[in-house]
Amino acid sequence: MDSRYVQFKNVKKSYDRHNFVVKDFSLDIAKGEFVTLLGPSGSGKTTCLMMLAGFEDVTSGAIEVNGQLITHVAPYNRNIGMVFQHYALFPHMTVAENLAYPLHVRKMPKEKIKAKVHEFLSLVELEYFGNRYPGQLSGGQKQRVALARSLIFEPSIVLMDEPLGALDKNLREQMQFEIKRLHEQLGFTAIYVTHDQTEALTMSDRIAVFEDGVVQQCADPSTLYERPANAFVADFLGENNHLPGTLTKVDGEHAHIELSDGTEVVATAINCPDVGEPCLLAVRPENFFIGDKDEVKSNQVLATFVTRLYVGDFIRYFFKLDDDRDVMVKLLNDQQAPTLQVGELTSLTWSISDGLALDQP
Ligand code: ADP
Ligand code: MG
Repeated sequence: MDSRYVQFKNVKKSYDRHNFVVKDFSLDIAKGEFVTLLGPSGSGKTTCLMMLAGFEDVTSGAIEVNGQLITHVAPYNRNIGMVFQHYALFPHMTVAENLAYPLHVRKMPKEKIKAKVHEFLSLVELEYFGNRYPGQLSGGQKQRVALARSLIFEPSIVLMDEPLGALDKNLREQMQFEIKRLHEQLGFTAIYVTHDQTEALTMSDRIAVFEDGVVQQCADPSTLYERPANAFVADFLGENNHLPGTLTKVDGEHAHIELSDGTEVVATAINCPDVGEPCLLAVRPENFFIGDKDEVKSNQVLATFVTRLYVGDFIRYFFKLDDDRDVMVKLLNDQQAPTLQVGELTSLTWSISDGLALDQP
C-alpha cells in the first residue's frame, strides 16, 4: 500500500461541464515521496491539488488515500496540510498564535500546544519571533511561519502550491533547501506545484509534467531531462536546439535522420514518427562540441559563428547552419572556451546519445 499512498485514478475535472481542465489524470504517489506537478500557467496543477484537498469536486474518476476513497470526506477530515504562494497567515494573531491555531481546532490541551509551537518555531528557525505579528516579518519569514503552520498538526500529506513564487531568487533557493530538510526530517508525503523547472528538478523525487490538463510525462528528474518523451517536455525542462529533418531509418535504438540541409546524423530513437516522415532532432546546448577534434562525438554539422554572450560561469555561442537555422551552444567558461571570428565557418559535433529523435509536435 505504501507505494500507492495517494492515488489519482482517471480523474477528470470540468468547471463548466464542457471544457475539461484536467483530462484523464492518473498518478500513484508513494508514502513519503516528494512529487511535483510542473507545467505552464493554466495547465491544471492547482485544480489537482484542490481536488485532493477537498475544495473542488472531482467531475469523474476517483482519488484514494491509503486505499480509502476520499471523494466524499470533508476537507477538514482529510488531515492534509497546505501552503500557498500568499501566506494566508492571520494578520491579527501573533506568529505563535498562528501556529497554535490548527492545534486549538483539533482540541489539543494547552500545555501540549505550547510545547509543539516551541518545537515548530525552532524547526523553522524562528524561535525568537513567536510574539511578532505577520506584518512585522519579511516575506521569507512569513513563508516559514506558513510552512510551520501547515506541518504542526503532523499531517501525512502536505500540498504546496507555488509556495516560493513571491520570493526573490536567493531566498527561493534557500527555502527550497529548507523545505527539503523538513521533508526528510518529518517524512510527510509532499505534493508540490510549480511552473519553475529548476525548482522542480532540484526538489523532486518525481515530476509530472502537465500541458493543458494532460500529463505529458511523469518520471524522476534525470530521466525527464535526459530522456524527455516528447518535444513539449524536452523544451519545458531546460533549453534545447531543434533541428528539423526526415527520418530515413530506425535501427534498434538508433534513428537515422536527414537534416534539412542534407546532413545525415544518427540520434537516439525516443518517440519517432514513421520512416519518411518529418522528425525533430533535439540537442541540448551543453552537449555540443565546437570544432571537429572529438572522434567520439560522431555527428557533425557545419556552422557559421554569429556571436557569443558572456554569462559568467558559462558562455553562449550562437551559430547559423546552412539552412539558416539557429543553434545555441553553451560552454563552461574555462580555458577550453574557443575564440572564434564572426562569420568563421566551424563544425559542431555531438554524440548519438545526446541527440534525441522526436516526433514533430
Ligand atoms: P494552474 O494551477 O496549472 O495554473 P489551474 O488548475 O489553476 O491551473 O487552472 C486550470 C484551468 O481551469 C484554467 O483554464 C483556469 O482558468 C480554470 N479554472 C481554475 N479554477 C477555476 C474555477 N474556480 N472556475 C472556473 N475555471 C477555473
Ligand atoms: Mg496554479
